[in-house]
Amino acid sequence: MAREKTLVLIKPGAIQRELAGEIITRFERKGIKIVGLKMMMMTDFLIQKHYAHLKDEPFFTELKRSMQDTPIIAIALEGNDIVKRVRILTGATNPREAAPGTIRGDYSISVSNNVIHSSGTPEEALAELQRFFDEDELFNYQRMNVMDYAED
Ligand code: UDP
Ligand code: MG
Repeated sequence: MAREKTLVLIKPGAIQRELAGEIITRFERKGIKIVGLKMMMMTDFLIQKHYAHLKDEPFFTELKRSMQDTPIIAIALEGNDIVKRVRILTGATNPREAAPGTIRGDYSISVSNNVIHSSGTPEEALAELQRFFDEDELFNYQRMNVMDYAED
């Protein structure tokens, strides 16, 4: 079991649909610790880095445009094995395959409007967190009275 941090982005499609609060609440209800959170506009440069693995895909131009429809909300989460756990809560990329109860399963309406991003692996998480957050934007703090019985 490894103590990790991971990145979630609330995408413009979810901001448009006023789902930001509900999505943040899902992580809070699950006892997951928020250690960074900010709203920002994704620059062309940031999108090219973040979606470098998709740059030759036919949908890249549309993806880039849709990520700039509104600002995004970037969230850093911390916990034991948090990368994998948040991926499970996120659900499959394609909404038709995303299980009910997952965030995408419950809210995603299309592959291009699939509500959130979450880091796929611990390596991806490290690189992405550095890309989205300065060191002083990630916080180290204790939660008081938080579910003594929770896994983290
Ligand atoms: N995407 C898309 N069309 C596709 C595949 C992916 O628009 O056919 C978008 C979608 O928003 C997805 C993002 O590109 O979330 C990144 O793709 P990836 O394969 O990394 O999926 P994820 O890690 O987000 O589940
Ligand atoms: Mg991915």
